[in-house]
Amino acid sequence: MPAYLDNAATTRVCPEAARAALEAMTEGYGNPSARYAAGQAAAARVAEHRAAVARRLGCDPAELTFTSCGTEGDNWAVRAAAEHGRRRGRHIITTAIEHAAVLEPVKALAAQGYEVTYLKPDRAGRVSVDELRAALREDTVLVSMMLVNNELGTLQPVAQAAQAIRDAGSPALLHCDAVQGFLKVPFTPARLGVDMLTLSGHKLRAPKGIGVQYIRKGLNLKPLLLGGGQEGGLRSGTEPTAQIAALAAACDAWEEDYPARISALKEYALESLSALPGLEIVSRGDAPHICAVSLPGYPSEMLVRALSDLGVYVSSGSACHKGKPSHVFAALGLPKRTLMGVLRISFGPDNTREDVDALVDGLRQITASRVSL
Ligand code: PLP
Repeated sequence: MPAYLDNAATTRVCPEAARAALEAMTEGYGNPSARYAAGQAAAARVAEHRAAVARRLGCDPAELTFTSCGTEGDNWAVRAAAEHGRRRGRHIITTAIEHAAVLEPVKALAAQGYEVTYLKPDRAGRVSVDELRAALREDTVLVSMMLVNNELGTLQPVAQAAQAIRDAGSPALLHCDAVQGFLKVPFTPARLGVDMLTLSGHKLRAPKGIGVQYIRKGLNLKPLLLGGGQEGGLRSGTEPTAQIAALAAACDAWEEDYPARISALKEYALESLSALPGLEIVSRGDAPHICAVSLPGYPSEMLVRALSDLGVYVSSGSACHKGKPSHVFAALGLPKRTLMGVLRISFGPDNTREDVDALVDGLRQITASRVSL
């Protein structure tokens, strides 16, 4: 078994989710829009699954729309918020460390004439609410701030952002990409005070191809897809019943003590990794499952490939795209040698100390057999 330490990229589907998907595909395969019994049973199951996700998230099931992935939800939120506020203004605030699923649609709006303020993180990887306060304008229509950064594991001050928006009396909508936060850190959309929130199933042991969008009750957003009127008319298209069943099963199977267990493993990893000569901790991560380290002088792409040969999987993936350091690490202002040697390590409930030991041994072997640049 490889030591899979890239759970922020995706996770292995848990047996409960796989079983639920199989059952939905082979037994409960009716179209939820069909009027006969098999269809109505499928519709009832989708309703139960929506309720299961809502219980975990702490919201009303009617506030949830199933989507295909986090990218879809992020894109929808950005575009729908712009449309929602189109008569009021064309200013957007987001952070310099958002996922591309937020940054790219924001960029597309900028190309259409929207002004964008990017909040910069401090050296620790957190943005400041004071800067947000200063950036809010009368014509601000959207603030988009992630809950947990996917490369650093740092928590962003989303609840404080909501308070700042309220204090300013601004009608700007607040969107939160909580793809890396759901089930890892405690929150509810209401306690965060957000209008829209985006989740993705494959980060929490459900399959790829399912996401969830929270839209606060009372907020009228433009539908994402027009057609048969499924998902309360917000996202037409026959419901992906297998993925929905699997997502609900993965939520139900997520045990209360997972975050503490994962966090303890991360602490063990950080302690073990610190013994490697030259290793720098870039981010310990506030969230239990993500941290980032660097071996200055050893390019991340080389480390990822060499570790892979030893059966250890970590990421430079979003950390280093096509040889270019990621916008997130670049935004921290790290020295170039540190920047080029960054690795993101991310944990899930299946990981063990043996996985961490394999990583540390692997890095020791690689650095012993190669000279640093
Ligand atoms: N937002 C964050 C913070 C992520 O980490 C990811 C995935 O890496 C996404 C959005 C995109 O999610 P998906 O892969 O489901 O499109």
